Amino acid sequence: MAQIRILDRDTREKIAAGEVIERPLSVVKELVENSIDAGSTSITVELQDGGVREMKITDNGCGMAPGDMGLAVQRFATSKIADFDDLEKLATLGFRGEALPSIAAVSRMEITSRPEGEECAFRLVIEGGEAGEIREAPGDRGTHISVTKLFFNTPARKKFLKNPVQETAQISHLLSKIALSRRDIHFRLKSNGKNVFSFPAAMGVRDCLATLWTVEDQDDIREMTCQEGSLSIRGYLCHPRIVRGNRQEETVFVNGRLIKSSLILQALQDGYHPLVPPRRYPLALLFLTLPGGELDVNVHPTKTEIRFEKANSIFRMVRDAVAAATRQFRIPSYEALVTEVKEQGRERSFQIGLPYDSVTGEVIDEAGESGGPWNPPEAPRELKSPSPWKAPPAPEKASGFLPLAQLYGTYIVGEKNGALVIIDQHAGHERIVYEELDGKESATHSMAQGMLFSPVYEFSPSESLFLSEHLDELSRMGLSMEHFGGTSFRVLSMPPFIKEREVEPFVRTVLSELMEGRKSQDSDIPERLRKIMACRGSVQAGDRLTPEEMSALEKNLMETCDPFHCPHGRPTMIRLERDDLEKLFKRK
Ligand code: ADP
Ligand code: MG
Repeated sequence: MAQIRILDRDTREKIAAGEVIERPLSVVKELVENSIDAGSTSITVELQDGGVREMKITDNGCGMAPGDMGLAVQRFATSKIADFDDLEKLATLGFRGEALPSIAAVSRMEITSRPEGEECAFRLVIEGGEAGEIREAPGDRGTHISVTKLFFNTPARKKFLKNPVQETAQISHLLSKIALSRRDIHFRLKSNGKNVFSFPAAMGVRDCLATLWTVEDQDDIREMTCQEGSLSIRGYLCHPRIVRGNRQEETVFVNGRLIKSSLILQALQDGYHPLVPPRRYPLALLFLTLPGGELDVNVHPTKTEIRFEKANSIFRMVRDAVAAATRQFRIPSYEALVTEVKEQGRERSFQIGLPYDSVTGEVIDEAGESGGPWNPPEAPRELKSPSPWKAPPAPEKASGFLPLAQLYGTYIVGEKNGALVIIDQHAGHERIVYEELDGKESATHSMAQGMLFSPVYEFSPSESLFLSEHLDELSRMGLSMEHFGGTSFRVLSMPPFIKEREVEPFVRTVLSELMEGRKSQDSDIPERLRKIMACRGSVQAGDRLTPEEMSALEKNLMETCDPFHCPHGRPTMIRLERDDLEKLFKRK
């Protein structure tokens, strides 16, 4: 191994700068945050070639006195906190004192600033971390910073710059979000001399959103507010008819800071469920306010990742508030939706609203970052009274469904109103059972079937510990058990849809799936139990069904809130109209 040495200042600066400044976007973000912290009421960002050539940020804030200017560009120089304890009551966006020196280390930066009470402005030029002298210069009150030659001395970084159009798009996206959170500030963005947007301080959040989301009907944006204990949430949600193919329009602010939080995004997604199809994302803007002591913002140098102390209750509150708010949207029935889609000449009825990037105008096709699987439903929707699925004596005419065959023991094939219908029997039944369980814990409990004989099962020590902690929840879902000495438990009753011979595998699967999920973020046991039970309690692929059972399944399925998706978001049925068939056979 080579000898250990302390790195020289230049190298250290470049390494540190690399953590904060990745691309033009990070420069703009840091400088705009500084302008906000300086109390500005007007902030203008001007880009040349996406910031690769030049970025200019002009504000009308408090400005810097010449002495402070020299300090500001040194590492760990900040006017915003005095010591670590101040972090808890942080009221500004910046606090690390890293931005200016980091930018200065990898570019040519020219700061012109004039504080209140000064006759003229002062200018400081730093290139590659080398500061020149501070000189008098003309300038209005506030600060004007120009950054050129970005990454001139770090060629590796420079190679990773995207083309100017993409860099502009990223910046525009970020700046518009910041603008949403500060409607007391006039934000302007110009690119190569042209106006990209201008959001005057008088323009409300809704109007800005309508522009950014290109929503014409104001009714398509719902406002929500919610307060519980020390946490308050304000949000703007877009109608689920309008969706994107990535998460770019899911915006979350915590205490005024734009953050990334998979926890909140998951809660948002669950709240919207099942109104948004798999791999599509709603448009939403959330502002969370909570005491600074309940979060840790000091996790990442770019300060976008945060940790919550009360993660679980925040998750639940966001999810439930979103679910309640989305219920107010007028959601067209499936039939109406199909007609609407057909009228528009589109084929895939559920993929309404092409994912569209409002900034670049490029249509984005696939799920962006961390698309992830569509998570099963969380929030109870409007429900019908519980009706355990039983095969009726004969197919009912009213439903109009005529079962024709069962294919591969997996799909129900039938005819309905002149259309060919194919139902995935497991997915369809899963939806039915899920909704019967959904929000109906007590009903399920009362429907639970007592056991003719109560089987006793042996469990591992950790399983038995987990069981004894969750006996109540299990029993509320119809699975009641009691401790039977040591690590044994006796089963007293089962949910209605479980056959006697399936009791043991059912209990063991439920237990192991619950315990496995325990490590995950979603610790909502009743909800997970519901999904597991819906899955385990449904007819499986391979189960033979009589024509009566097939019609009953179709009928019950059509009565659910979302007949076309199973709780995991997969489709439950396919419909081919006569028209579709004729097209397939090229008769048309
Ligand atoms: P931080 O924002 O974490 O304090 P920065 O390196 O971004 O660190 O800025 C250092 C200091 O420079 C700030 O604390 C502030 O006092 C001053 N400053 C930076 N930008 C501006 C501005 N636009 N207007 C007034 N003061 C500024
Ligand atoms: Mg700063």
